Amino acid sequence: MSAMHPERRAFFDFVSRHRSFLLTTHINPDGDGLGSEAAMALWLRAQGKQVRVLNDSVVPPAFAFLARNVTMEVFEPEVAEERFSEADALVVLDTSNRQRIGRLAPLLDRFTIPIAVVDHHVSHARGFGQVNVIESEASATGEILYDLIRESPVAITAEMAEALYVALMTDTGSFRYSNTDTHAHRMAADLLTYGLDPQRIHSQVHSHASAGRMRFFGEVLSALELAADDRLVVLEAAPEHFQRHGLVGADTDGLVDLPRTIAGVEAVVLFSEVEPGKVKVSMRSTGRVAIDKIASQLGGGGHIHAAGVLLRGSRASARERILPELKRVIEELPRERLAS
Ligand code: 5GP
Ligand code: MN
Repeated sequence: MSAMHPERRAFFDFVSRHRSFLLTTHINPDGDGLGSEAAMALWLRAQGKQVRVLNDSVVPPAFAFLARNVTMEVFEPEVAEERFSEADALVVLDTSNRQRIGRLAPLLDRFTIPIAVVDHHVSHARGFGQVNVIESEASATGEILYDLIRESPVAITAEMAEALYVALMTDTGSFRYSNTDTHAHRMAADLLTYGLDPQRIHSQVHSHASAGRMRFFGEVLSALELAADDRLVVLEAAPEHFQRHGLVGADTDGLVDLPRTIAGVEAVVLFSEVEPGKVKVSMRSTGRVAIDKIASQLGGGGHIHAAGVLLRGSRASARERILPELKRVIEELPRERLAS
């Protein structure tokens, strides 16, 4: 292995200095945030450390199996108070933006707890920890953890391998997105040697849709708009759409990815208004346009090809703030026509 990244070295020192750890991830956690928490918890425990996991939001049913080995608590003021007082250190996974840990963020002002951040997002690249292992080349936070675990004396177990595989699989869109590289595939191949069943993991994660959610996707997709000379897809989900099917914000998961498959599309944007006046903007690039800056300029963030921001106001005002920029970056691209 090549010389260790100095920040990784600092992370190992951070771990050896402390005994009792609290782990957290971003609001509305995904497979990478939760898989990274599970893998990190198992790795710390294997070294005799005490570990607790506390998140702002509940674990979605699709990822409940990750909480089999590692209890994942949801924010309650009293629980948070207790967890922060008993922990020696906090490890924040899959976000380097303080606000993204939701209701845990204000506790950082009251408890002067040492923090380590492990993340792969490009925005907020400086992080808010004493130690910040932020590697934007990694396709998933779980990929950084995989490296860290292998650089440590602890052996990967089947449970760790499963959690790391979930992190990698979900953040690469099941090995379809532009962040899927040789490292990601090698990691996947190695993880399979621990006896995982990739087909089973895939169905555990992806077979949690309800009929209502499918109808909701259908409604939103049937109203899709094309812009920028058919190279941009615009989707809108209104509060009525959610209410009609009894759905919540997390139910849009995967929706913005579907129109990426339309031939010639460079980007997709979803304006999702779960509650009136709160519009969650999700953007995806099919690999040529960079969209992270559009989100970070408005206070959001993400990756070069997948980013988001929460905007206050109407869907119409959110569209006015996003669409001109998004069209501009697409129109700056050279034309590329598929040979027919
Ligand atoms: P999604 O559209 O799936 O919610 O998010 C796509 C990417 O953008 C993820 O990497 C996510 O972390 C990031 N992202 C989404 N919404 C926000 C936001 O409000 N703030 C920041 N900083 N990042 C976001
Ligand atoms: Mn991630």
